[in-house]
This record gives sequence, structure tokens and C-alpha cells, in this order.
Amino acid sequence: GGPRLSDPGLFRQQGYVDGAWIDADSGETVEVTNPATGETLGQVPKMGAAETRRAIEAAEAAWPAWRAKTAKERAQILRRWFDLMMEHQEDLAILMTMEQGKPLTESRGEIAYGASFVEWFAEEAKRIYGDVIPGHQPDKRIVVLKQPVGVVAAITPWNFPNAMITRKAAPALAAGCPIVLKPASQTPFSALALAELGERAGLPTGIFSIVTGSAREIGGEMTGNPIVRKVTFTGSTEVGKLLMQQSAETVKKVSMELGGNAPFLVFDDADLDAAVEGAMMSKFRNTGQTCVCANRIYVQDSVYDAFAAKLAEKVRGLKVGYGLEEGVSQGPLIDMAAIEKVEEHVADATGKGARVVAGGQRHDLGGTFFQPTLLTEVTTDMKVTKEETFGPVAPLFRFTTEEEGIALANDTEFGLASYFYARDMSRIWRVGEGLESGIVGINTGIISTEVAPFGGVKESGVGREGSKYGIDDYLEIKYLCIGGV
Ligand code: ADP
Repeated sequence: GGPRLSDPGLFRQQGYVDGAWIDADSGETVEVTNPATGETLGQVPKMGAAETRRAIEAAEAAWPAWRAKTAKERAQILRRWFDLMMEHQEDLAILMTMEQGKPLTESRGEIAYGASFVEWFAEEAKRIYGDVIPGHQPDKRIVVLKQPVGVVAAITPWNFPNAMITRKAAPALAAGCPIVLKPASQTPFSALALAELGERAGLPTGIFSIVTGSAREIGGEMTGNPIVRKVTFTGSTEVGKLLMQQSAETVKKVSMELGGNAPFLVFDDADLDAAVEGAMMSKFRNTGQTCVCANRIYVQDSVYDAFAAKLAEKVRGLKVGYGLEEGVSQGPLIDMAAIEKVEEHVADATGKGARVVAGGQRHDLGGTFFQPTLLTEVTTDMKVTKEETFGPVAPLFRFTTEEEGIALANDTEFGLASYFYARDMSRIWRVGEGLESGIVGINTGIISTEVAPFGGVKESGVGREGSKYGIDDYLEIKYLCIGGV
């Protein structure tokens, strides 16, 4: 059944367009299920191109007044939104666990993390500085302005149902842009609760709309409509490429946070206990379903066995279960397709000689629960090397020299996050500079924070989210050339 919240008004089963809660034109709905129980949690409207177009047009109409507000006025509304998110942290976390499956402690953490982007960009709104450039001729003056890019369309995934929205919406709104959002169909309720709180915080009508329903139709309208000046997406590389192609027709700016295939290197001079701790955090957070999860763990020969033994003990100690239960650290996977991919990766690896040291199978709880798994003697011909598993499987590869480790780590078309553990200072610089990724975690398995720039190189994406850089994705540079002075 549905969630029991202390503020039932946060559980919205309609879309939010132009400041109104609405159904689909067709009246059709899509069901949302709790992945831990398979039960229906509720319904949301199955909207398409027409509703999306209305949301885009409403955003365009609302834009001039929003842009004309002072940065401080926009910041005050965002700040109220942040406060409301934190005030309702527990309800938002319960809702998230029920639709996404992650343990309640992780959901609480995500609400705080998601809210931190709203707080951060409320502050950054006031610091969108331009520039004055000495003129190139005696009578000339050159001034650089930063202006909001215009109507933004956003598409977000199910693995972080709150934070992937706020780190797009907060900088867009802070910069003076309206935004139309399509959340993932698996996790729309977290998004709708955010809209409810945005309304309470005083976001003007039309500035933040949410359309739920057909990804293909909504995405088609968002990328095809000339009013939209910017498309921002987090999700698979495959869909990201499609959205970039579709956006090319009207030359929209794009920000893309796409897939990863994160390497995690353990060098022989590493603090092994710290490395095990970091690997656990990086690999098993959100049951392995983050785009920065360690996907390939490379361990230097001389410490391989010791690291594997320590890691195995930790993996066996993980508690799998329903996210709302106390002490659970591993929830279900999002759906059956996710389970099948994990099974396929494990079967492929073991078929080619990998050894299962822990887990390896579906969990006794059934449904989409999988045992936390550790594989050793993994080699580069196995599927886990090339594809993101997106599940609770830690594959351990061997390497010998530092150069070999870096080369193996970089042997992928992706480049989002990398991690390594080492103590030698020269090595830390060499490896840090040598890894081809937008983010490098050094002696840490957790790299996400609103104050740092998150984003990838190679096929992992375009643009950065969070930090002082994150607002640039929603700004255009204009230069005024003043002559006859
Ligand atoms: P994941 O594998 O994480 O589910 P997807 O890229 O499939 O990643 O989904 C991320 C988001 O993109 C979701 O909101 C999904 O509904 C949306 N999406 C999927 N296919 C399309 C498409 N053809 N056009 C626009 N959005 C899409």
C-alpha cells in the first residue's frame, strides 16, 4: 500500500504543470511499485508531448518575471525550499525508500545531500559575477555579462530520486531559468514531493513543472521544442546520446551525466584496512546502483590475497533486507532487468574462470534481492570489465606495475569516477594526473558533495554539477562592446 507520512500532503499522485496538479489528458496512469515488496505504491499520470508542451510554454511565460527578480529574492525562495526539505527529511526519506528500495539511512542521507544543492545554489545565486576587460582600442570598453540560458528541460534517473533533481533544478533556478522536469517512472513520488515543497516555499507558477509518463514522448518534446534552450540529463549513455542527437536539430546546450565504469586501484603501499573500507563504501552504496560505484577493483599482486580476505569478511557481514528495517545496509535492486544483468555478469565471469568468494546468487528474500558478491581472479576478457554491473558485485583483478594499473584503469570509453589507495606522495600525484576521469577519489571511497564539481570525461558526459562551476551550465556569456567612449 501507500506510504504513511506525518505530512500526507507530500504524497502527490498527479503531475505539476504551470502551478496546478493535473492528470494526463488521456486520463491514463502508470503504476509505481515498491521494489522491496512488489506492492503497488500508487499511480502517476501517463503524460506525453501535449502536457510537456504546455509546461514548456508556461515556463517561457513565467521566465521574464523570474529572471527580473534580484538574485537575493531568488535566493530567499530557494533557501525556504531547502529549509522545508530538511524539515520534512523523514517523510521524504520514507517515500524514497518505498519507491526506490534503498535503506532508510541512505535515503535520509540523500535528502540532506539533495537539499545541500538547494542551499548551495541559493548562496551562489548572488555570486554570478561578470567581467570587465580592458578594451582593444582607446575608445572601446568591453563588459561581460552572464545571463540565464532560458527554459531548461531535465530528465532524471531512479537511483537518486531527489539529489539528481536538485543539482539541476537549484542551479537553473538560481541562475534565473525556469525548469520542466521528467523524473524516472520508477521514482516519481520523490520528485512530486519536491514540487509540493517548492510551491510552499513560494516558487512562482510555471517556474518548476513536473511531467510524468512516457519517456520517449516527453523526451521528444523537450528536445524538439525550440523554446527549450537547455537539456540536462542524468542516466544511461545510450539515452544520453539519443537526447544529444535530438537536441542537435535546434542546437540546444546540453549537460549530460552518463554512465561510468569506475576503476578502484589498490597499490602495494596502501593502508589496506582503509582501502577495504573505501571499497565497501564505493561498491555497495545504494546496493551498487550509483554511476560512481567501483565497477572494477584492481589490486597490486603483493597485497592481492590480503586485500581479498579482508574484503570478503566485510562483504559477508552486509545485511540485506527491506530498507525500512533497522540495520539493513543492502536493499533490493530496482527491477528484474537489474537482477538479470547482475546474474549475467556473474555467470560470464565464473564461466571464464573467476572464483566466487562471497554471495553469487539471488537472495533468499526473493524478488529483486541479490547476495552481496565478491569475485576474485577476474580477468579483462570478462563482461564486468567493459560494462557497468550496477549491482552488488565486487570483481577483483590483479595488476603488477603502476603503469599497468593506470593503463588498465583507463582502458574504457567511460571516465566519470576513479579511485585509488596509495601512500607514496609522488605516486599519488602521478596516478591522480594519469587517470582519465572527471573525479578521482584518493584514499577515499566517497566523493560526492555539493561543494565540488561532479561530472565525467569521455563518454561519461558533458558539463559539471555542483560547486561554483555547476551554475555555469545554466548561464550564457554575453559581451557588450561599447564604442565611442
Ligand atoms: P537507467 O538505465 O538508469 O534507467 P535510462 O537512461 O534508461 O537509465 O533512464 C534515465 C531517464 O531517462 C529516466 O527518466 C528515463 O525515463 C529516461 N528515458 C529513457 N529513455 C528515454 C528516451 N528515449 N527519451 C527521453 N528520456 C528517456
